Parts: sequence; C-alpha cells; structure tokens
Amino acid sequence: MSEFLPFTRPSIDEESIAAVAAVFRSGQLASGTKVLAFEAALAAYVGGGRSVRALTSATEGLEIALAVAGVGEGDEVIVPAMSFAASANVVARLRTTPVFVDVELATRNLDVALIERALSARTRAIMPVHFSGLAVDMDALQEIAARRRLRIVEDAAHAIGTRHRGRAIGSFGDLAVFSFHPNKNMTTIEGGAIASADPKAIELIERHRFHGIRRNADGEIDVVLPGAKSNLSDIAAQVGIDQLKRLDGFNARRRALAALYFDALAGFDALLLPARGDDGHSWHMFTVLIDFDAQGTTRPAFQKAMAGRGIGIGVHYPSIPGLSYYRDQGYRSEDYPNAHRIGRETVTLPLFPAMLDKDVARVCAALRAELR
Ligand SMILES: *Cc1c(COP(=O)(O)O)cnc(C)c1O
Repeated sequence: MSEFLPFTRPSIDEESIAAVAAVFRSGQLASGTKVLAFEAALAAYVGGGRSVRALTSATEGLEIALAVAGVGEGDEVIVPAMSFAASANVVARLRTTPVFVDVELATRNLDVALIERALSARTRAIMPVHFSGLAVDMDALQEIAARRRLRIVEDAAHAIGTRHRGRAIGSFGDLAVFSFHPNKNMTTIEGGAIASADPKAIELIERHRFHGIRRNADGEIDVVLPGAKSNLSDIAAQVGIDQLKRLDGFNARRRALAALYFDALAGFDALLLPARGDDGHSWHMFTVLIDFDAQGTTRPAFQKAMAGRGIGIGVHYPSIPGLSYYRDQGYRSEDYPNAHRIGRETVTLPLFPAMLDKDVARVCAALRAELR
C-alpha cells in the first residue's frame, strides 16, 4: 500500500535546516537580528505601509491585539460561531463576552448580514476569521465598524498570503493576526504576528509581548504595564524568513490542488463542496460537508475507514458554542444553524504543498469508495 497521506504537512527544505544550524552556532538565540529581519520581510510582503511584530503564537497575538484595541472586562466582541476555539477563548480570557454570529454554509465565513442584530451598547470589536484562507467581505465589515465605531481584530491565522480585491490581508485592516503554527500556510514552528498601520498600536504590542518593558533615552528599563512574554526566538524567525520566501509558491500549489479537487469531485453529491472564491484564496484547508446520518455512518467511523485506506482526515472545526466551556456559559450550538451543521458534518481533506496530483486522485477514489 502507498505511504500514509496526512491531511497536512509543513514543507521544510535542507537549506532552511542549514540556516537554522547557523543561527544556533551564532550564539544569538532569543529575539535579535533574525526577528527584526523576519518582521521587516513580513511588513514588505503584506504591504500597505504596515508594521509587523512577531510573537510566539496567533493566540497570544489575538489576545494582545484585543487589549491594544481597548477591549476589556465587560465588553462584547463579535466572533464567528464556527472557528478554532482560540478565536473565542482569547475573548473569554480578557473577561469579555464573545457574542457568536453564525457563518455562511459555503464560505464558512462570518455572515456579515447577521452582525448588526448582534451588536449592543457594549460591543467593542468584531473578530472576522478568513476561514481556510478565503477573505471575509472586508468592505461590508469595515462599513459596519465605521458606522458603529467598532474595532476590527482580524483572526488571519489561515490567511497569510490571502488577497481581498487585490490587496493582501493585513495590508488594509485595523489589526490583523497571523499564525505560523506548523499546520498553517507557512511556519515558524510555533509563532504568529500582528500587522498594524498605527505606530501607537505597534508600541503597545511591543510592551505587551515583553514584560511591559520600555527603555528610556539612557537605556534604563521601566515597566509600564504587566506585559506577557510572547517574543519569538531568532531560531524560529530564521525558519520564518525561509518560509516567507517560499510562501507564494506554496499557496500557488495549494490553489492548483484545490482546483484538482473541484474537478475530481464535481457532481459527487455525497459531499457539499466549499465556496470556490477567487485567485486571492490561499487554500489553507479543503473542507467538505458530509451528512453522516444519511450515509449510515459516523464521522469517527469514516475517519477510521479513510485511515485504513492510508488517508488522514481532519475536523475543522466543531461549532464553538457547542463546546463544553461555552455550553456551560449558556450558549446553544443550535442557535447558529450553519455552524452547528458544519460542526457535525465537516471533514478536512489532505492539502499541502508537497502533495502530488495523484494524491488528490487517490483521496477522491477513496471518498467514492467509502461514500454513496
Ligand atoms: C491556528 C488558529 C489560531 C491559533 O494559532 P496559534 O498560532 O496556534 O496560536 C487561531 N485562530 C484560528 C482560526 C486558527 O486556525
């Protein structure tokens, strides 16, 4: 039988392994020149006059970005009801209330038409998630935010390299947060970054990510807020520098593989395919919906059967209001019908840059064998 095909796998080449070895030998391991170079490269890549600050994760970045946006105890933040739990957890960690809004079935993105009725006098911010690298309709979102004086903190964990009407995600928003977890479109092992055009926000991000420390003109240390410890290492930044050079190539390959899936699965009505988007889609994941009841099976049984055929299947994601912590807070998954359905029916097919065309064919043949 052929080798096991995971649903994702990072592409790290020998050149970047050698470059990391050189950083080890330099003796400069924590945040130094490599972090500065990585941040400069990210800012140039994103464009739009943005500055970028690197962090240990997008989760840290989202929490810091919300704090920088002035979100705090007693406030409400609009969060999509279907995303990775971190999107809501960061809100809850700030003693702020996540107000869930349902997503659209095909795009899996926040249904912008439902936002207005979820707003209250306490709403401070909206957190769109560019699901699987497909941009949220930012024009519509920015119009609501401007009219209602709300901040937008973009969870762009899936969206490094995504473009929206010709502009890179991160280049035109308020605060955008990227993830460089190994499953994402590029990696720093663990890591993330925040992009902003506002020098005051950038300064605050620096304080929050490193102990609240500010140096005065003489280089003396002062602490101006109880900061976290979320700075990236030079080792991780070196990985990111190499990955960023390859990112457009990675994403082009992802788009080509997604196109192969669309061709191979057209008309196969056991699956509901995702929205196709346009050339700005960075295809972080290829997720499809399957009505497991109608198929007479369950998702775990299906995953097991596919694993038996050498194919890894992911689940991204259950509806957030249906998770125990949120259920215990009184949220009901059923109040968000699309998120609820996606949460039960979604599976993630293998998609990563090193995949071969014939791997797509193999996945599709296995799907047709397992489903009717
Ligand atoms: C991965 C992910 C995060 C968290 O990213 P980390 O870098 O692992 O902290 C947040 N939101 C979404 C939508 C994600 O997929």
